Amino acid sequence: MRGEGCNIQDPASASTNDQRLTTNDLRPTTNDLRPLLHLLLHLAIPLLVARLCYPGRWRFAAFVMLATMIVDADHLLARPIYDPARCSIGFHPLHTTAPIIFYGILAVVPLIVGQRTVGTRHRRTVDVLHLVGVGLLIHMALDAIDCVI
Ligand SMILES: [Zn+2]
Repeated sequence: MRGEGCNIQDPASASTNDQRLTTNDLRPTTNDLRPLLHLLLHLAIPLLVARLCYPGRWRFAAFVMLATMIVDADHLLARPIYDPARCSIGFHPLHTTAPIIFYGILAVVPLIVGQRTVGTRHRRTVDVLHLVGVGLLIHMALDAIDCVI
């Protein structure tokens, strides 16, 4: 009989029971990098949109759109504040349907009324409101993509 009377262990079963960490355990996985990628997209996409859609004033456009990341302040109301497995859309108050519709209105209405403000002191305000709306829509779109992938 195999192993009878002594503590000889099958080498294959010994290695499966080994609980030591290997270098593979310490390498970041796709799931570990996902929050970092999400954050990088929140920076890169507004910059890209600013460069492509507002070439004459891309720095200002990028600044306003990046500033809309403050919308994530509503995460402070949740416990835990950050949960990588949680979908922000529909969970956090400023990431729900009614505010998202408002962000769409903010993006579009200044384009309509903006023609009438050319040359007036309201022009800059209308521009900022439009960019805030666009920045928030980009933010919501990126958060929504993060929910489905
Ligand atoms: Zn968000």
